[in-house]
Amino acid sequence: MTEKPKKKKAILSKSTFIKGLQCTKALYLHKNRYFLRDPLSLEQLARFSRGTNVGVYAHNLFPGGVDASPKTHFQMAQSVVKTAGLIQQSDVNVIYEAAFEFEDVIVALDILYRENGKWKAVEVKSSRGISDTYRWDAALQYYVITGSGIELEDFSIAYINQDYKRQGPVDAHGLFQMESLMDEVMQKQAEIGQKIQELKEVAQLKSSPPIPIGIHCNEPYPCDFQGHCWKKVSPDSVFLLEGIGEEQKFEWHHSGIGSVTDLPAEVVKENNLGLQVKSIINNEVIVDKPVLSAFLQTTGTAGVFQTFVFAPVIPFCDHTSPYQPLPMGVGISPTDNFAPAVSLESYASFSLEAAVSNMLKVTGEFDSLWVLDVSKIGGLLDSCRSLFPAMEKDLEKLSFKLKDLLTPLKEEMIVYPGLKMPLSAERILKHFGAKSILSDNKCMIPEQADALFQKLLSAPEVENNPETEALIKAFMLSKTENNYRLLQLWRSFTK
Ligand code: SF4
Repeated sequence: MTEKPKKKKAILSKSTFIKGLQCTKALYLHKNRYFLRDPLSLEQLARFSRGTNVGVYAHNLFPGGVDASPKTHFQMAQSVVKTAGLIQQSDVNVIYEAAFEFEDVIVALDILYRENGKWKAVEVKSSRGISDTYRWDAALQYYVITGSGIELEDFSIAYINQDYKRQGPVDAHGLFQMESLMDEVMQKQAEIGQKIQELKEVAQLKSSPPIPIGIHCNEPYPCDFQGHCWKKVSPDSVFLLEGIGEEQKFEWHHSGIGSVTDLPAEVVKENNLGLQVKSIINNEVIVDKPVLSAFLQTTGTAGVFQTFVFAPVIPFCDHTSPYQPLPMGVGISPTDNFAPAVSLESYASFSLEAAVSNMLKVTGEFDSLWVLDVSKIGGLLDSCRSLFPAMEKDLEKLSFKLKDLLTPLKEEMIVYPGLKMPLSAERILKHFGAKSILSDNKCMIPEQADALFQKLLSAPEVENNPETEALIKAFMLSKTENNYRLLQLWRSFTK
């Protein structure tokens, strides 16, 4: 019996093509040394699930379609066959997750629809704009779809319209805005063809291409091989310096300045880096005690305060917009002894007005409140002001009480460079060798609490919701305690 020839596996997908555009070494490592990859961060996981939910919601733009998605990501080839069959059926005019393969590249398109006998493509994004990456992504999809034999009349991106305000049921056509990228996509076709050939060769190299680290390690996305590529960077490298642009740091690094000790004295002086360099070289926390002590002084009753928000892409209620931050709870404690009060709003009978009132009530007895990153809370307060003008004065009063736990770092009252972004109380405590209740790697992050709360709101009757609620409350408590611990740490530096 003659054996059936095995179908060759596609070499590139949308994500590996985009990875290769960012850095060919990243593509090579992904294809050949996957085990070197950094673990996925909690932020990345939260972002992926958000993208998927919005993609499914966007089906409302073209309802009644047939889903061609595979059971698992590894069965994309079956989707290609299913899509080809669906396209042949005259009664199928909308296909979700239609998959195509051409020149060993496989892609899945969010929505393919037929209008007046012509096929049109729509890719859905959960973002509020169209980035360069999305433009390349669209051009690649067009290349593969048309190459596989399907003529496309148009290629559009559907992305979130940030000006949309909900009034009654969500209107998918108001929530998303569509933009045709057809002209741009056509212009990029020759380049896409060349890039595909180039990247396929890279994926099949015998060893990794010699690409040095650079701005591309974080642009447009943080690369997941940094643990591997950056391991030879000196522990006292210029990358620890704060207030210096990334381009400048790479310029120094590539010109042989491996450590801050190699920086010429005039460069240190010009850039006002003296304190930072001293701190890095001596591995020492440098504190301006008089300034820090004065900053930490408060009059009246002081507390540590943490707001918890949810920011749904699909607006939760009338008068709200996509991604508008809304309060889901607060954590608060006096500063002199840790006595936390945490309140999570009722998901069974959630009232935005009650949530804002509660925030004002629990903060009312305090004269000053220590928070981590005033700018973030500012966004929430603005959102509440716009929704409830009657509470504007009290919200204003609250904003005047806020004192930022990041100020000692931002204003160099405490110097100990090398903090990783995004900043959190846990990261800062760890950086200074202090204990925190939550470690960034093991526990929840605000984005996950946000997603869990949205789940509770959407299905309050689900049986295991009390467990989820308890989980969010435990997280809120830990966050509040870490703010408290951070304030105690800053206080300890004044002694
Ligand atoms: S860490 Fe930087 S150099 Fe290494 S693979 Fe990623 S982008 Fe390329």
